[in-house]
Amino acid sequence: MSSHYEVLGVSKDATSEEIKKAYRKLARKLHPDVNPGEDASEKFKLVTRAYEVLSDAEKRANYDSTGNENGTGQSGFGGGGFGGGGGFGDIFEQFFGGGGGGAQGPASRTQRGRDALITATIDLADAVAGTVYPLDMETAVTCSVCEGSCCRPGTSPVTCDICHGAGQIQRPVRSFLGQMMTVETCASCRGFGTTIPDPCNECNGQGRVRERISKQLKVPAGVASGTRIHLTNQGEAGPGGGPNGDLYVEIEVRRHKVFERDGVDLHARMNVPMTAAALGADLDLETFDDIQVIEVESGAQSGDTVRLPGLGVPRLRGGKRGDIIVHLQVETPTKVDAAQRDLLEQLAKLRGEEFAEGRLDSNGGMFSRLRGKLGNLGS
Ligand SMILES: [Zn+2]
Ligand SMILES: [Zn+2]
Repeated sequence: MSSHYEVLGVSKDATSEEIKKAYRKLARKLHPDVNPGEDASEKFKLVTRAYEVLSDAEKRANYDSTGNENGTGQSGFGGGGFGGGGGFGDIFEQFFGGGGGGAQGPASRTQRGRDALITATIDLADAVAGTVYPLDMETAVTCSVCEGSCCRPGTSPVTCDICHGAGQIQRPVRSFLGQMMTVETCASCRGFGTTIPDPCNECNGQGRVRERISKQLKVPAGVASGTRIHLTNQGEAGPGGGPNGDLYVEIEVRRHKVFERDGVDLHARMNVPMTAAALGADLDLETFDDIQVIEVESGAQSGDTVRLPGLGVPRLRGGKRGDIIVHLQVETPTKVDAAQRDLLEQLAKLRGEEFAEGRLDSNGGMFSRLRGKLGNLGS
Protein backbone atom coordinates (compact mmCIF):
# COMPACT_ATOMS: atom_id res chain seq x y z
CA MET A 1 0.00 0.00 0.00
CA SER A 2 1.30 3.46 -0.90
CA SER A 3 2.10 5.94 1.83
CA HIS A 4 -0.10 8.99 2.29
CA TYR A 5 2.72 11.08 0.87
CA GLU A 6 2.85 8.97 -2.29
CA VAL A 7 -0.92 9.11 -2.65
CA LEU A 8 -0.81 12.90 -2.66
CA GLY A 9 2.40 12.96 -4.71
CA VAL A 10 4.31 15.13 -2.25
CA SER A 11 7.62 14.66 -0.47
CA LYS A 12 7.83 13.65 3.19
CA ASP A 13 8.86 17.16 4.20
CA ALA A 14 6.12 18.91 2.23
CA THR A 15 4.70 22.03 3.88
CA SER A 16 1.04 22.12 4.83
CA GLU A 17 0.50 24.56 1.97
CA GLU A 18 1.98 22.08 -0.52
CA ILE A 19 -0.17 19.30 0.90
CA LYS A 20 -3.27 21.43 0.61
CA LYS A 21 -2.43 22.35 -2.96
CA ALA A 22 -1.79 18.74 -3.97
CA TYR A 23 -5.04 17.58 -2.41
CA ARG A 24 -7.04 20.34 -4.04
CA LYS A 25 -5.65 19.47 -7.42
CA LEU A 26 -6.41 15.75 -7.06
CA ALA A 27 -9.82 16.31 -5.49
CA ARG A 28 -10.88 18.51 -8.42
CA LYS A 29 -10.05 15.66 -10.74
CA LEU A 30 -11.47 12.79 -8.67
CA HIS A 31 -14.46 14.07 -6.71
CA PRO A 32 -17.59 11.99 -7.46
CA ASP A 33 -19.41 15.13 -8.61
CA VAL A 34 -16.86 15.58 -11.36
CA ASN A 35 -15.79 12.06 -12.03
CA PRO A 36 -18.49 9.45 -11.43
CA GLY A 37 -16.28 6.44 -12.28
CA GLU A 38 -15.83 3.82 -9.59
CA ASP A 39 -12.08 3.89 -9.98
CA ALA A 40 -12.04 7.63 -9.39
CA SER A 41 -14.20 7.31 -6.31
CA GLU A 42 -11.80 4.75 -4.83
CA LYS A 43 -8.88 7.05 -5.54
CA PHE A 44 -10.77 9.99 -4.12
CA LYS A 45 -11.23 8.09 -0.89
CA LEU A 46 -7.53 7.33 -0.65
CA VAL A 47 -6.54 10.89 -1.47
CA THR A 48 -8.98 12.30 1.05
CA ARG A 49 -7.85 9.93 3.75
CA ALA A 50 -4.23 10.89 3.08
CA TYR A 51 -5.16 14.57 3.27
CA GLU A 52 -7.11 14.06 6.50
CA VAL A 53 -4.02 12.69 8.17
CA LEU A 54 -1.35 14.93 6.67
CA SER A 55 -3.29 18.18 7.11
CA ASP A 56 -3.62 17.63 10.85
CA ALA A 57 -0.30 18.35 12.56
CA GLU A 58 -0.94 15.89 15.36
CA LYS A 59 -2.13 13.08 13.10
CA ARG A 60 0.73 13.69 10.73
CA ALA A 61 3.31 13.53 13.51
CA ASN A 62 1.73 10.30 14.72
CA TYR A 63 1.74 8.89 11.20
CA ASP A 64 5.38 9.89 10.68
CA SER A 65 6.50 8.25 13.88
CA THR A 66 4.46 5.05 13.76
CA GLY A 67 4.02 4.69 10.00
CA ASN A 68 0.41 3.82 10.46
CA GLU A 69 -2.77 5.67 10.91
CA ASN A 70 -4.56 3.19 8.81
CA GLY A 71 -8.26 3.80 9.46
CA THR A 72 -9.07 0.14 9.00
CA GLY A 73 -10.94 -0.90 12.05
CA GLN A 74 -8.65 -0.97 15.03
CA SER A 75 -10.86 0.16 17.79
CA GLY A 76 -13.36 2.69 19.00
CA PHE A 77 -16.45 3.01 21.05
CA GLY A 78 -19.92 4.44 21.14
CA GLY A 79 -23.37 3.88 19.78
CA GLY A 80 -24.35 2.96 16.27
CA GLY A 81 -25.36 5.34 13.57
CA PHE A 82 -23.51 8.07 11.79
CA GLY A 83 -21.02 10.01 13.80
CA GLY A 84 -20.28 13.66 14.27
CA GLY A 85 -16.97 14.84 12.94
CA GLY A 86 -16.49 15.99 9.38
CA GLY A 87 -16.77 13.42 6.65
CA PHE A 88 -15.05 13.68 3.32
CA GLY A 89 -17.70 16.03 2.04
CA ASP A 90 -16.81 18.55 4.71
CA ILE A 91 -13.20 18.75 3.72
CA PHE A 92 -14.17 19.10 0.12
CA GLU A 93 -16.53 21.91 0.91
CA GLN A 94 -13.86 23.82 2.79
CA PHE A 95 -12.13 24.28 -0.55
CA PHE A 96 -14.98 24.74 -2.92
CA GLY A 97 -17.25 26.83 -0.78
CA GLY A 98 -20.01 24.31 -0.20
CA GLY A 99 -21.95 24.04 -3.38
CA GLY A 100 -21.80 27.68 -4.57
CA GLY A 101 -25.29 28.01 -5.98
CA GLY A 102 -25.72 24.84 -8.01
CA ALA A 103 -27.22 21.57 -6.93
CA GLN A 104 -25.13 19.64 -4.44
CA GLY A 105 -23.82 16.24 -5.37
CA PRO A 106 -24.87 12.98 -3.78
CA ALA A 107 -23.76 12.29 -0.22
CA SER A 108 -20.89 9.92 0.40
CA ARG A 109 -21.53 6.64 2.21
CA THR A 110 -18.04 6.95 3.57
CA GLN A 111 -17.87 8.94 6.79
CA ARG A 112 -15.28 9.40 9.46
CA GLY A 113 -16.05 7.36 12.58
CA ARG A 114 -17.07 9.02 15.80
CA ASP A 115 -14.72 10.05 18.53
CA ALA A 116 -15.16 7.98 21.65
CA LEU A 117 -14.69 8.79 25.32
CA ILE A 118 -14.21 6.13 27.95
CA THR A 119 -13.12 6.21 31.58
CA ALA A 120 -10.25 4.27 33.13
CA THR A 121 -10.31 4.03 36.92
CA ILE A 122 -6.93 3.43 38.52
CA ASP A 123 -5.44 3.37 42.01
CA LEU A 124 -3.39 6.24 43.39
CA ALA A 125 -0.32 3.96 43.39
CA ASP A 126 -0.71 3.59 39.60
CA ALA A 127 -1.03 7.34 39.17
CA VAL A 128 2.24 7.76 41.09
CA ALA A 129 4.17 5.04 39.27
CA GLY A 130 2.43 4.90 35.89
CA THR A 131 0.79 1.71 34.68
CA VAL A 132 -0.55 -0.26 31.77
CA TYR A 133 -4.34 -0.30 31.85
CA PRO A 134 -6.30 -3.02 30.05
CA LEU A 135 -9.01 -1.33 28.00
CA ASP A 136 -11.90 -3.58 27.13
CA MET A 137 -14.60 -1.96 25.07
CA GLU A 138 -17.23 -2.33 22.44
CA THR A 139 -16.62 -0.41 19.25
CA ALA A 140 -17.28 -0.33 15.53
CA VAL A 141 -14.72 -1.84 13.21
CA THR A 142 -14.66 -1.93 9.42
CA CYS A 143 -16.48 -5.02 8.14
CA SER A 144 -13.91 -7.61 7.12
CA VAL A 145 -16.26 -9.31 4.66
CA CYS A 146 -17.02 -6.32 2.42
CA GLU A 147 -14.06 -4.22 3.59
CA GLY A 148 -16.35 -1.27 4.11
CA SER A 149 -17.95 -1.30 0.66
CA CYS A 150 -21.33 -2.25 2.19
CA CYS A 151 -21.96 -4.58 -0.78
CA ARG A 152 -21.93 -8.35 -0.85
CA PRO A 153 -18.51 -9.30 -2.25
CA GLY A 154 -18.65 -9.38 -6.04
CA THR A 155 -21.51 -6.88 -6.23
CA SER A 156 -21.49 -3.10 -6.34
CA PRO A 157 -23.88 -0.20 -5.83
CA VAL A 158 -26.12 0.81 -8.72
CA THR A 159 -27.18 4.28 -9.72
CA CYS A 160 -30.47 5.20 -8.08
CA ASP A 161 -33.22 5.09 -10.69
CA ILE A 162 -35.37 7.65 -8.89
CA CYS A 163 -32.87 10.51 -8.76
CA HIS A 164 -30.53 9.14 -11.44
CA GLY A 165 -27.53 9.49 -9.17
CA ALA A 166 -28.09 13.07 -8.06
CA GLY A 167 -29.17 12.16 -4.56
CA GLN A 168 -31.78 14.89 -4.78
CA ILE A 169 -35.08 15.42 -6.46
CA GLN A 170 -36.40 18.72 -7.74
CA ARG A 171 -40.08 19.19 -7.27
CA PRO A 172 -42.30 22.03 -8.44
CA VAL A 173 -44.44 23.59 -5.73
CA ARG A 174 -47.07 26.19 -6.06
CA SER A 175 -46.86 29.24 -3.85
CA PHE A 176 -48.56 32.61 -3.88
CA LEU A 177 -45.51 33.84 -5.79
CA GLY A 178 -46.17 31.35 -8.53
CA GLN A 179 -44.53 28.06 -9.29
CA MET A 180 -41.17 27.34 -7.58
CA MET A 181 -38.78 24.45 -7.49
CA THR A 182 -37.75 22.79 -4.26
CA VAL A 183 -34.87 20.38 -3.83
CA GLU A 184 -35.35 17.36 -1.60
CA THR A 185 -33.11 14.52 -0.59
CA CYS A 186 -34.03 11.45 -2.59
CA ALA A 187 -35.90 9.10 -0.26
CA SER A 188 -35.09 6.04 -2.32
CA CYS A 189 -31.30 6.27 -1.97
CA ARG A 190 -31.31 8.57 1.09
CA GLY A 191 -29.21 11.05 -0.81
CA PHE A 192 -26.37 8.73 -1.73
CA GLY A 193 -27.21 8.67 -5.43
CA THR A 194 -26.76 4.92 -5.48
CA THR A 195 -28.57 2.01 -3.94
CA ILE A 196 -27.11 -1.29 -2.82
CA PRO A 197 -29.13 -4.12 -4.34
CA ASP A 198 -27.14 -6.80 -2.56
CA PRO A 199 -26.05 -5.58 0.87
CA CYS A 200 -23.27 -7.37 2.71
CA ASN A 201 -24.82 -9.87 5.13
CA GLU A 202 -22.16 -9.50 7.73
CA CYS A 203 -22.71 -5.77 8.35
CA ASN A 204 -26.21 -5.32 6.93
CA GLY A 205 -24.78 -2.95 4.35
CA GLN A 206 -23.24 -0.60 6.92
CA GLY A 207 -19.63 -1.33 6.07
CA ARG A 208 -18.79 -1.83 9.72
CA VAL A 209 -19.69 -4.13 12.58
CA ARG A 210 -19.70 -3.89 16.36
CA GLU A 211 -17.03 -5.79 18.16
CA ARG A 212 -15.52 -6.16 21.62
CA ILE A 213 -11.86 -5.36 21.59
CA SER A 214 -9.15 -5.10 24.20
CA LYS A 215 -5.98 -3.12 24.16
CA GLN A 216 -3.26 -2.10 26.56
CA LEU A 217 -3.23 1.59 27.42
CA LYS A 218 0.00 3.12 28.66
CA VAL A 219 -0.84 5.45 31.53
CA PRO A 220 2.04 7.81 32.35
CA ALA A 221 3.06 8.56 35.93
CA GLY A 222 1.51 11.77 37.23
CA VAL A 223 -2.00 11.49 35.79
CA ALA A 224 -4.85 12.83 37.92
CA SER A 225 -8.62 12.46 37.88
CA GLY A 226 -9.78 14.28 34.76
CA THR A 227 -6.57 13.75 32.76
CA ARG A 228 -7.52 12.77 29.21
CA ILE A 229 -5.30 10.57 27.08
CA HIS A 230 -5.85 11.21 23.37
CA LEU A 231 -5.42 8.27 20.99
CA THR A 232 -5.55 9.45 17.41
CA ASN A 233 -7.57 7.28 15.01
CA GLN A 234 -8.43 4.71 17.64
CA GLY A 235 -12.09 5.64 17.95
CA GLU A 236 -14.97 4.11 16.02
CA ALA A 237 -14.47 3.03 12.41
CA GLY A 238 -16.60 5.14 10.07
CA PRO A 239 -19.48 3.75 8.03
CA GLY A 240 -18.73 2.77 4.46
CA GLY A 241 -15.06 2.11 5.13
CA GLY A 242 -14.48 5.58 6.57
CA PRO A 243 -11.48 6.35 8.75
CA ASN A 244 -11.57 5.96 12.52
CA GLY A 245 -12.46 8.74 14.89
CA ASP A 246 -10.25 9.43 17.87
CA LEU A 247 -10.37 7.79 21.26
CA TYR A 248 -10.15 9.74 24.49
CA VAL A 249 -9.56 7.96 27.76
CA GLU A 250 -10.40 9.96 30.86
CA ILE A 251 -8.54 8.93 33.98
CA GLU A 252 -10.32 8.56 37.29
CA VAL A 253 -8.10 8.00 40.33
CA ARG A 254 -9.67 6.10 43.25
CA ARG A 255 -9.53 7.63 46.73
CA HIS A 256 -6.74 6.23 48.85
CA LYS A 257 -7.26 5.24 52.47
CA VAL A 258 -4.11 6.96 53.73
CA PHE A 259 -3.06 9.61 51.23
CA GLU A 260 -5.02 12.58 50.01
CA ARG A 261 -3.65 14.26 46.92
CA ASP A 262 -3.14 17.96 46.42
CA GLY A 263 -1.50 18.52 43.05
CA VAL A 264 1.82 16.70 43.25
CA ASP A 265 1.82 16.53 47.06
CA LEU A 266 0.34 13.76 49.14
CA HIS A 267 -1.05 14.42 52.61
CA ALA A 268 -1.37 11.76 55.27
CA ARG A 269 -2.75 11.88 58.80
CA MET A 270 -0.79 9.87 61.33
CA ASN A 271 -2.19 9.02 64.72
CA VAL A 272 0.40 9.35 67.48
CA PRO A 273 -0.35 7.90 70.93
CA MET A 274 -0.24 10.52 73.66
CA THR A 275 2.76 8.85 75.32
CA ALA A 276 4.69 8.71 72.04
CA ALA A 277 3.98 12.39 71.47
CA ALA A 278 5.24 13.21 74.95
CA LEU A 279 8.31 10.99 74.88
CA GLY A 280 9.19 11.04 71.16
CA ALA A 281 9.10 7.95 68.93
CA ASP A 282 9.89 6.55 65.50
CA LEU A 283 6.77 5.45 63.64
CA ASP A 284 6.60 3.58 60.31
CA LEU A 285 4.70 4.96 57.33
CA GLU A 286 4.24 2.87 54.20
CA THR A 287 4.71 5.13 51.16
CA PHE A 288 4.45 4.18 47.47
CA ASP A 289 8.22 3.75 47.41
CA ASP A 290 9.10 2.00 50.68
CA ILE A 291 8.52 2.13 54.42
CA GLN A 292 9.65 5.46 55.84
CA VAL A 293 10.43 6.13 59.49
CA ILE A 294 8.63 9.19 60.77
CA GLU A 295 10.52 10.76 63.64
CA VAL A 296 8.02 12.10 66.15
CA GLU A 297 9.87 14.47 68.40
CA SER A 298 9.33 14.58 72.12
CA GLY A 299 6.60 17.15 72.77
CA ALA A 300 4.92 16.75 69.37
CA GLN A 301 1.51 18.40 69.08
CA SER A 302 -1.56 17.64 67.01
CA GLY A 303 -1.20 19.50 63.73
CA ASP A 304 2.60 19.26 63.59
CA THR A 305 3.80 18.16 60.17
CA VAL A 306 6.69 16.06 58.92
CA ARG A 307 7.71 16.45 55.27
CA LEU A 308 9.15 13.64 53.12
CA PRO A 309 10.54 15.42 50.06
CA GLY A 310 10.34 13.77 46.66
CA LEU A 311 8.02 10.93 47.63
CA GLY A 312 4.86 12.53 46.24
CA VAL A 313 3.41 12.37 42.73
CA PRO A 314 5.61 12.99 39.66
CA ARG A 315 4.77 15.92 37.41
CA LEU A 316 3.08 14.68 34.25
CA ARG A 317 5.54 16.49 32.01
CA GLY A 318 8.57 15.37 33.97
CA GLY A 319 10.59 17.11 36.63
CA LYS A 320 10.69 16.90 40.39
CA ARG A 321 8.23 14.79 42.30
CA GLY A 322 6.06 16.39 44.94
CA ASP A 323 6.35 15.69 48.67
CA ILE A 324 4.56 13.62 51.27
CA ILE A 325 3.36 15.72 54.16
CA VAL A 326 2.47 13.84 57.32
CA HIS A 327 0.07 15.56 59.73
CA LEU A 328 0.41 14.31 63.28
CA GLN A 329 -2.69 13.73 65.35
CA VAL A 330 -2.10 13.07 69.03
CA GLU A 331 -4.47 10.45 70.39
CA THR A 332 -5.81 10.87 73.89
CA PRO A 333 -6.68 7.52 75.46
CA THR A 334 -10.43 7.01 75.65
CA LYS A 335 -10.41 4.09 78.06
CA VAL A 336 -8.02 3.69 80.97
CA ASP A 337 -8.01 0.90 83.51
CA ALA A 338 -7.37 1.35 87.22
CA ALA A 339 -3.60 0.93 86.97
CA GLN A 340 -3.33 3.40 84.12
CA ARG A 341 -5.55 5.89 85.90
CA ASP A 342 -3.31 5.60 88.91
CA LEU A 343 -0.24 6.37 86.81
CA LEU A 344 -1.91 9.28 85.07
CA GLU A 345 -3.00 10.75 88.40
CA GLN A 346 0.54 10.45 89.68
CA LEU A 347 1.77 12.18 86.55
CA ALA A 348 -0.80 14.91 86.94
CA LYS A 349 0.27 15.40 90.55
CA LEU A 350 3.93 15.64 89.53
CA ARG A 351 3.05 18.23 86.92
CA GLY A 352 0.79 20.19 89.22
CA GLU A 353 -2.15 19.50 86.95
CA GLU A 354 -4.48 17.76 89.40
CA PHE A 355 -8.12 18.75 89.51
CA ALA A 356 -10.71 18.02 92.14
CA GLU A 357 -12.74 14.98 91.13
CA GLY A 358 -11.30 15.12 87.68
CA ARG A 359 -12.79 18.52 86.98
CA LEU A 360 -10.99 21.63 85.98
CA ASP A 361 -9.92 23.82 88.87
CA SER A 362 -11.80 26.91 89.88
CA ASN A 363 -9.19 29.64 89.54
CA GLY A 364 -8.77 30.38 85.86
CA GLY A 365 -9.54 26.87 84.62
CA MET A 366 -11.45 26.24 81.43
CA PHE A 367 -14.60 24.98 83.11
CA SER A 368 -15.21 28.00 85.28
CA ARG A 369 -14.34 30.42 82.48
CA LEU A 370 -16.86 28.74 80.24
CA ARG A 371 -19.52 28.90 82.90
CA GLY A 372 -18.79 32.55 83.50
CA LYS A 373 -19.22 33.29 79.86
CA LEU A 374 -22.48 31.42 79.63
CA GLY A 375 -23.69 33.28 82.68
CA ASN A 376 -22.93 36.62 81.05
CA LEU A 377 -24.75 35.62 77.95
CA GLY A 378 -27.78 34.62 79.96
CA SER A 379 -28.09 37.88 81.88
ZN1 LIG B 1 -19.88 -5.92 5.25
ZN1 LIG C 1 -31.92 8.48 -5.33
